[in-house]
Amino acid sequence: MECTDTKKIIIAVDGFSSCGKSTFAKAIAAELGYIFIDTGAMYRAVTLYALDHGAIRSGIVDDDAVKRTLADIVIDFRFNQARGASDIYVNGDLAEGRIRTIEVSNCVSAVSSIREVREKLVAMQQQMGRKRGVVMDGRDIGTVVFPDAELKIFMTADPHVRAVRRYEELRAKGDDVSLEEIEENVISRDKADMTRAISPLRKADDAIVLDNSAMSVSEQMEWFRERFREAVSR
Ligand code: C5P
Repeated sequence: MECTDTKKIIIAVDGFSSCGKSTFAKAIAAELGYIFIDTGAMYRAVTLYALDHGAIRSGIVDDDAVKRTLADIVIDFRFNQARGASDIYVNGDLAEGRIRTIEVSNCVSAVSSIREVREKLVAMQQQMGRKRGVVMDGRDIGTVVFPDAELKIFMTADPHVRAVRRYEELRAKGDDVSLEEIEENVISRDKADMTRAISPLRKADDAIVLDNSAMSVSEQMEWFRERFREAVSR
């Protein structure tokens, strides 16, 4: 018997830095009982490992040194019951907190523009989504990782609104950062992500734009439910 309402799909959530992609994607996954995969966390994990192993010094990324570290990096996600989400581990060590620092944010776009880094992480992401029933957030999910995703959402928001959100998040965690430095990072990452040679950030032709500058999470979820109904009935 065909049971269309339980058909599991892939939901790609791409877009600019600090748009609330992860919050949105996580909420969707919780509602649908899907697996949530934060691919930005994976690029951040490689960056953290490179920082810890001398492949990035004084903010300068040594591409060859990063490539050499790749074979040694083991990334895995483990579900954290208390948080209701998965934590990322790098070679067995919990890295969730350390990957979100401004030091990592300042180097991650350079690391993510290295072809070998992308090849390794894209292959892992494709493997994680092979059974479908996933919500994956990133920059190239709808264009490169899962061009056949049944529902593609491209998120955007005003850069100042995004910087304020990220600033409040980091300050709440006790990070001593300034709004100017966050805004600078958000804008420069957008630029680097859109202009890199390999898999640049761009909206897939069949993606639906969600500008959440003035939307609450519950308004975004209302918007999403409608799009989901359309996607599963296609
Ligand atoms: O999503 P988040 O802001 O944590 O991503 C950090 C960085 O990782 C991005 O600025 C981008 O350079 C890189 N990234 C990427 N492709 C993805 C996800 C993230 O290049 N699919």
